[in-house]
Amino acid sequence: MRFVGPRALIDLAALGHNLEVARRHAPRSRLWAVIKADAYGHGMEQAAAALAAADGFAVARVEEALRLRAAGVEHPILVLNGALSAEETAAAWEARLNLAVHQAAQADWLAALPRSAAVADHPLRVWLKVDTGMHRLGLEPAEVPRLQARLADCPVVAPDPGLMTHLANADEPTDPLSALQCQRLRALARPGQALNIGNSAGILACPATRADGVRPGIMLYGGSPFGDRGAAALDLRPVMTLKTQVSATHVYRAGERIGYGGTFVCPEDTPVGVAATGYGDGYPRHAPTGTPVLVKGQRVTLIGRVSMDSITLDLRPCPEARPGDEVILWGPALPVEEIAQAAGTISYDLLCGVSPRVRRETVHRPEPS
Ligand SMILES: *Cc1c(COP(=O)(O)O)cnc(C)c1O
Repeated sequence: MRFVGPRALIDLAALGHNLEVARRHAPRSRLWAVIKADAYGHGMEQAAAALAAADGFAVARVEEALRLRAAGVEHPILVLNGALSAEETAAAWEARLNLAVHQAAQADWLAALPRSAAVADHPLRVWLKVDTGMHRLGLEPAEVPRLQARLADCPVVAPDPGLMTHLANADEPTDPLSALQCQRLRALARPGQALNIGNSAGILACPATRADGVRPGIMLYGGSPFGDRGAAALDLRPVMTLKTQVSATHVYRAGERIGYGGTFVCPEDTPVGVAATGYGDGYPRHAPTGTPVLVKGQRVTLIGRVSMDSITLDLRPCPEARPGDEVILWGPALPVEEIAQAAGTISYDLLCGVSPRVRRETVHRPEPS
């Protein structure tokens, strides 16, 4: 039986294309494709398969990395937030993960791993995560030499750990902080030490961040990290189309109020459509009246409050719409950035927030010519 309702169509060819765009911008960097948070809501395992040309994958947590290993992924996998217990550290070594180390306790857990013959076989690769200005996770630059010496004494740790840092404001290309953050990291590096810096915004707009390693995330999914430049201008192809159907249509008289709280008042006799999606699917509850939606390819607007399973639409531009007609909530024809902006958030939040109730379906779209 074929159910109807919201679907997230995932264009795997677009993932591959966007990886090539990252490669073009940073041709000398190893690309660590960031597929944390279920590949920003796109499905981690299938994203890994579609991004097999990446040099490695990056996830936030050990648990996510182990899920990739269980799926048979053999690429290097970097855990951006590092292990958060001795047990996770041991599991990370067994699974041959790369670990970020951003606090001394993580070095203690590495030092406590049993010295066994197997260790020499596959030493664990560490990236010292340095706080160069983000002030979230990271070692103070002054702590780096001491921790580096400490790790050099750990039999489990591969020699010459890399240095990584995360950019706080790379989405504002004119902010001098990004270049300063790169400078601070480079000042700590020993000759030949691998540096890992750029996120999507850095890769696209700040050459200094294109180090030995870079970590593209949102750009792989066809999202623009910039407030003032859309994905198309960056040659990025949106990977996800969130779509559903019209489930009912009505005509309401002038003065009638629509939905919870009756926040929208029909200004005249108004054809109103109900579409089968809501915040229970991850459509943002804060999307206000006026947020664009496509019905049969035509732009209409959301009216009234978003509820758990439904949204209501002003069908005046498209009065012929009927139950079963296609509704696009975001996708190549309606940038997710536009919906995010209307809802007071960012595309990352919307993509990650598509709930498990929404079935992911892969599509194979021909390359646009
Ligand atoms: C999530 C994340 C990235 C990817 O950032 P985008 O803006 O999505 O490219 C890179 N590095 C770290 C440390 C991250 O946490």
